[in-house]
Amino acid sequence: AIAGAGEVAPGDDKPSAFRGNAAAPDGVSHLVRAYAVLDGTSGIDPTDLEDRALGAWGAMVARVGRALRGFAHPRALRVLPWDVQFAHHARDLVHHIDDADTAVLVTRTLDRWADHVVPRLPALRAQVIHGDLTVDNALADTSGRPCGVVDFGDMSHSTLVADIASTLCSLTAGRDGDELFRAARLVLDGYRAVTPLDDDELDVVVDAWMARNAAAVAISSWRVAEGLEDPGYTAGFRASAAAQLRVAADVDPVDLAALAHGPRRRRSSRPLAARRDDAFGTAIEPLSYRTPVRPVTAEGCWIVDADGRRLLDMYNNVPCVGHGHPRVVEAIHRQARRLNVNMRYLHETSIELAERLVATCPSSLDTVLYVNSGTEANDLAWRLATMATGNRGGLCTSFAYHGISPTMALFSPETLRPDADLDFVATWDPPDTCRGLHTGTEGFAEALESLDERGLGLAATILDGVLQSDGVHVLDPAYVQELVARTHAAGGLWIADEVQGGHGRTGAMWSFERFGIEPDIVTLGKPMGNGHPVAAVICRRELAERFAADTVFFSTFGGNPVSAAAAVAVLDVLDDEQVLARTATAGHALRAGLATIDDPRIGHVRGVGLANGVEIVADGGAPDRAEASRIKEALRDLGVLVGTTGPHANVLKIRPPLAFTAAEVPIVVDALAAALAR
Ligand code: PMP
Repeated sequence: AIAGAGEVAPGDDKPSAFRGNAAAPDGVSHLVRAYAVLDGTSGIDPTDLEDRALGAWGAMVARVGRALRGFAHPRALRVLPWDVQFAHHARDLVHHIDDADTAVLVTRTLDRWADHVVPRLPALRAQVIHGDLTVDNALADTSGRPCGVVDFGDMSHSTLVADIASTLCSLTAGRDGDELFRAARLVLDGYRAVTPLDDDELDVVVDAWMARNAAAVAISSWRVAEGLEDPGYTAGFRASAAAQLRVAADVDPVDLAALAHGPRRRRSSRPLAARRDDAFGTAIEPLSYRTPVRPVTAEGCWIVDADGRRLLDMYNNVPCVGHGHPRVVEAIHRQARRLNVNMRYLHETSIELAERLVATCPSSLDTVLYVNSGTEANDLAWRLATMATGNRGGLCTSFAYHGISPTMALFSPETLRPDADLDFVATWDPPDTCRGLHTGTEGFAEALESLDERGLGLAATILDGVLQSDGVHVLDPAYVQELVARTHAAGGLWIADEVQGGHGRTGAMWSFERFGIEPDIVTLGKPMGNGHPVAAVICRRELAERFAADTVFFSTFGGNPVSAAAAVAVLDVLDDEQVLARTATAGHALRAGLATIDDPRIGHVRGVGLANGVEIVADGGAPDRAEASRIKEALRDLGVLVGTTGPHANVLKIRPPLAFTAAEVPIVVDALAAALAR
C-alpha cells in the first residue's frame, strides 16, 4: 500500500529502512516507517551458546562500539537508570526488592560500586554506546552468533565497560560458579580481539557487570511494585541477576576483579621467597640483597616495589631504553596482536631489523642470524668460528661470563670453581686498571700458546668489551688491537660479545668501536629487545656460508616478528632520544660525581658511558669484598640498586637502564656517601 510513497533512494531497491508519508485507502496521509526484515532469531537461550558464539557476541559489542566512535548527539548525555554509570542511583529502589537476602546483596554491590568504581569512571574511555546489546535486542544466526541489532533504545554516552556489562549479564545468564566467569572471559576475549581493554577497564569490568545486575534487580522490582511492569515478564532475569550476585558474593572483591583476567587460583599464604626455593631449588642464583626486592612496576630507571617504594635502578642493563618504554611495549603489543610466526615466512620487520643492525657495523659485517639469548648467540658464533677455522681452542678472560650452555659455561669461568677443567678454553688476565697489573699482552700470548701445546689451535677469542664480570675495567684501544692482531695471526676469529656493552651502553653503539677494531663476529643479546628475549649474531657473509655448507640454521623463536618489532623499537628510541650522547654525558657526570666522595674505601672509580665500577678497598688497597657487599646492601636500603662484580666481588657494578641521565647523578652520589657513612 505504501510502495513508492516515501524517500527511497533511486536504485536502492532493497532499502534497510524506509520513511515517508503514505496515503491510506481512506485518503488520510500517514507517517510510515518500514524496516527490512533481518534474518535471525531474537531472545535465544544464552545457555545454549557454544564458546565460539560467546566470543562472537563480545566481538559484536566491540564492533558496534567502534561504529559509534566519533558519533555525538546532545541527547546522548542523559541519565538512564539502566546505564551502569548511574547504577548507584538504584540504591533508592532497594526497598522494593521482596527477597531480603537479595536486597542485602544488591545494596552491598551498589555501595561497592559507588565507593570504589564510580570515582574511577571519569578516567575510563567513554563515547555513545549501544548500552543494551542483549539476546533480546539482537538477533542470532543458527550457530548462536549475533547477526543483527534491532533495538537501539538504550543508547547513551557512557563508558565502554558499561556497554560490556549489560552484554555480560545477558550472555552469562543461567550459568553458575566458575562456569559463569569462564563464559564471561570468553565474551571479554571476543570484545578484546576487536577493541583491547586497558588495565583500568579490566580492573572494573566485573564490578560493572555485577553493578548492572544489582541495578537491574532494584529497578525492575520497583517497576513491578509501581505496576509499570508485568512481574512474569521480568521474573526470569531478576532471578538470573540475583543468582549471579550470589556467585560473586562468594569471591573476595580483590579476586573478583582478577576474574576478568583468568580463572581463580587459591592464593598461597606462604612467603614468596620460600615458594621460590621450593619451585627452583638451589641451582638458581640467590636473590639479590638481604632484603629482596619485589618489583611491581617500573618506569625509566625507577622501580616501584610491592610496598610502593621507589628504587633508583642502577643495575639493570636489559631495559636498555628504560623500564616499560612505551614505544617498545606498544610495538610488542601491536605485533603480537597481528601476527607471530617464524623466519620461514616473509616478514618485513625481521628483515628491516637485520638491515638496520648491519648498517651500524663495519661494512664487512653484513649477515645477521637471530637467536633468543646471549648464550645462544655466543654458541652460534663459536660454531661459526670452529667451522670456518677448523681449529678447536678458544680464549676468554679469566673471570669472563658468556653463557650457560655446555660450551659457553667453559667460556664463563666466573661461574665455575677456580680449579675447573676448561677443556678447550684457555684464559688470560685482563688489565687490572686499579692496581696496574696485567697491562701487557703477555698473559694472552701464554694462553694462546697453551692452546697450541694442546694441539687445539685457536678458533676464536671472545671478549666482553666492558669486562662486566672481570671487574668493569676500561681497556686501552692499543691493547685490544694487539689482541685482535695476535688472534688473527694464530688463525682465529675475534668475537665481540656486545651482550653487555652494546646498544649504546658505552656512549657508542657498540663497545668495540672504541677499540678501533673490526670484529669477525658480533654477538648481541640482553638490551636488544629492552627485556623482550631476542638476540643475534652479526658476521661476515663467508662465515655464514661456510656454516651453511655443512648444516642449516633455524631457530623457532629467533627473529620472530614480535621480537623483531621490539628490537626495531629499541633502535628507534636510541635514535629519537639521542641515547648515545645522553649516555656519554650521564656517564661523565656520574663518574665526576662519584669522584667527589672522599673516602679511603673508594679505591678507583672507572667506566665508560653507563658501564661503571667503583672499586672498594681495605687499608693498603687490597680488595674488600665484605665492605663492598655491606655498601651494596646499605644502598639497597637507601633506595639505590647496584651489584658487585669482579674476581674479588669488591667492585660496585653501576649499570643503569640508559634512561638514567645526569639529572639523577646527585641521588646516587648522596646515597653512596650515606652508605659509606653508615
Ligand atoms: N655474554 C655476556 C657478556 C653476558 O653478560 C651474558 C649474560 N650475563 C651472556 C653473554 C649470556 O646471555 P644470556 O643470559 O642471555 O644467555
